[in-house]
Amino acid sequence: MFQSDRPVIRVPISSKLPSYHVWTVGCQMNTSDSERLSSGFSNMGFEPTADIANADVVVLNTCVVRQSAEDTATGLLGRLGKRMKGNDERMIAVMGCMVGPEQRELKRRFPYVDVWARPQEFEPILETAGMRHGLDPEGCLSGAVPENPNIASFIPIVHGCDKFCTFCIIPYRRGRENSRSSFDIVHEAEMMVARGVKDITLLGQNVDSYGHDLRPRVDLADLMEQVHEIDGLERIRFQTSHPNDMSIRILEVIRDLPKVCEMINLPFQAGDDTILANMRRGYTSGQYLDKIAQIKEIIPDITLTTDLIVGFTGETDAQFERSMDILRSVEFAKVHTSEYSYREGTFASRKMTDDVDRDVRRLVKRQSTSSSGKFKAKTTQNSLALNLTYLSKVVNEINYTGVAEAIN
Ligand code: SF4
Repeated sequence: MFQSDRPVIRVPISSKLPSYHVWTVGCQMNTSDSERLSSGFSNMGFEPTADIANADVVVLNTCVVRQSAEDTATGLLGRLGKRMKGNDERMIAVMGCMVGPEQRELKRRFPYVDVWARPQEFEPILETAGMRHGLDPEGCLSGAVPENPNIASFIPIVHGCDKFCTFCIIPYRRGRENSRSSFDIVHEAEMMVARGVKDITLLGQNVDSYGHDLRPRVDLADLMEQVHEIDGLERIRFQTSHPNDMSIRILEVIRDLPKVCEMINLPFQAGDDTILANMRRGYTSGQYLDKIAQIKEIIPDITLTTDLIVGFTGETDAQFERSMDILRSVEFAKVHTSEYSYREGTFASRKMTDDVDRDVRRLVKRQSTSSSGKFKAKTTQNSLALNLTYLSKVVNEINYTGVAEAIN
């Protein structure tokens, strides 16, 4: 089902290990998926190479949340295809959010791709690569924790999303929410810590809805309590949160467990209630601000970051000004601002007219990014400095990489 129509080529087995290169774009979930796939390749007997042009197996792990990310992946795919003429021994696989349930058009545009795999569908990639090079993928994915993980590493705990915001393609590409068992997650965290990891970020599109689909039910608070017990682990983080799923119990656990960072990324996306309803975010600006007040009451030292979309379909200047009001009143430590990006297949693409001029959107984004800097929380420098002190202490003690990721 996943393979292209290209015939399977078996490469003569040589004494040299076959090489692989996993190229990644997009969110931390993709970074984490790529680490797992890379670990599967290494377990099978492939060796990593930084040389994408000459790797025996190239995997592009893609993102389609914004047009620019998709264009980068298709541009690279086109260049790889040109180089492949007359050299059919190399294998190319495309994984991630670019690969939806319908792949006919992709297969027509890129006939030289051997495997199309949806997010986390590692098996068809490893099986095809194994078949080519006479290596057995059996068992190579279980416990696929990198041999030398970064000091700050990610663990996906819930895949997919049930929210279906009208602008977002994620639920159509990553599917409905599917929580991993807490047993598996804790086991993976223990293995990572045994390999030197000090700082773990628990990942999910809606990380705070973790566990609602598990029986018996557990939640993010229960999971953080279990992970907190692991000796040698120093920091626990989690992202991304949805305002409607951030419970009082989760907030109390963040406050009470010393290893859990008092830091929450809570996207608000827009400040105007009509725009929020059109985005189908499930809250009003007043409800969002009430949630912020509750967070600050329970965790007075909290560091808050957020995501904001500029120029969603139909947004006027006056409506956008309400987003700036939220920035002014909350004083986030960091604001991830993005221009609204029309995505084929979303509810907005089917039912709404994208009537905001691109140049205006770009200009407003630039202006809002520079003004959001003025409303930054005053604690940012302090918390960043504390984090840097902690990380440089750990890095001095043991020579690990991954510091940049941990600072953010
Ligand atoms: S909550 Fe909304 S924006 Fe976030 S992944 Fe789900 S659908 Fe997309």
